[in-house]
Amino acid sequence: MVNKNLVVVSKGKGPFHNIKTAFGGLDLTFLKGKSVLIKPNIGRSAKKTKGVNTHHNAIAAVIEVLKDCAASKIAIGESPLVGVNTLEAFEKAGVRGVAQKYNCELLDLDAFPPVEKEIPGARVVESTKICSPVLEYDIILSLPVAKTHMHTGVTLGIKNMKGCLYKHEKVRFHQLEYVNGMEYPDKTLDTAISDLATILLPDITVIDGFTGMQGLGPSGGESIESDFALASWHPLGADVIACVLMGQKPEEIPHLRLVSERLNFSIRPEEYRVIPDNYKDYITVYKKPPQEISITYPDVVVTDKGSCSACQSTVMLFLKRFKDDFKPYVLEDKKLHLAIGKGIVLEEIKKGTILIGNCTHKAKEKGLFVSGCPPVPTRIYKAVVGKEPDVNEPEID
Ligand code: SF4
Repeated sequence: MVNKNLVVVSKGKGPFHNIKTAFGGLDLTFLKGKSVLIKPNIGRSAKKTKGVNTHHNAIAAVIEVLKDCAASKIAIGESPLVGVNTLEAFEKAGVRGVAQKYNCELLDLDAFPPVEKEIPGARVVESTKICSPVLEYDIILSLPVAKTHMHTGVTLGIKNMKGCLYKHEKVRFHQLEYVNGMEYPDKTLDTAISDLATILLPDITVIDGFTGMQGLGPSGGESIESDFALASWHPLGADVIACVLMGQKPEEIPHLRLVSERLNFSIRPEEYRVIPDNYKDYITVYKKPPQEISITYPDVVVTDKGSCSACQSTVMLFLKRFKDDFKPYVLEDKKLHLAIGKGIVLEEIKKGTILIGNCTHKAKEKGLFVSGCPPVPTRIYKAVVGKEPDVNEPEID
């Protein structure tokens, strides 16, 4: 029996040797003769080593360990963000070369028909479309790069499973409402991730923290060299200890707390057996996603009444990317007006304000309402302009 509560950490050896040490430190005898699907985070078409995607050498190290364990079949699969060509993203990230070197199959998961899966007891997602190969392998190995995330706090092994959803299904997770008029305190996106976790979790998690991303992740942040890796059979244990290594409090990450509560997994780092004991010496503090709209745009008015950080981050990223395209939408004061938060009321906003997020729906007859919790920046663009933005940059994950 494997020790599910064990998390093995390695630091300071580069992506390849960190992973070899951490993953190779688990009891992997169970893998003999098993088929394994490696699910990295290659959601975007980005150059190697920017902290956007899983490092190609981290993937190489995982494959070497799996081969040493006599896994019967190894494939690398990804369903990236809508608009990203999977095979191009693999190429740019150096993954194609790794697959060729080790003779592993590369799978564009979206190229296979999806399987619709019911989620019993769902709070938000009553059923979802999963890429079929994910359900055909004996073992799913989640291999994300460590990042903070503007909507979900962090994106690690559990959140990485969202990249097993078929095509637009990933975006749908940003646009949901609670089922049957129920109300829960958490954002629907975080709750949706926990719904998915009730039916789909990684069997093994290996986290690449060599070059991560901090701040406005998953794409608009800064890269950070933290040079760690960890591995565990425990999906939440891996993410909890990765949070500690990133200087984040796991109990403050809503989707991790929800998974902990719903699946009865501990969110307390001290309840996992971590090797080495002194792993906290390896902490590199990642900057959190920004908590308030600190970028000053004199020609933009943001009315914020009780929003949460996810909508604030959406607005920041939206302004960073698209502000100049929105000059035609300024009001009579020559300013662009945006509103976010559950406290927005009809009487207090100017006609023509862009109302961002489900919380603002009460005022929608007076403004341009963009649904989602939170909506993604390109959804705001499309809702207002009426067409997709002319950008190569893909949607948020
Ligand atoms: S709509 Fe925006 S502000 Fe409201 S709960 Fe969702 S993310 Fe938070």
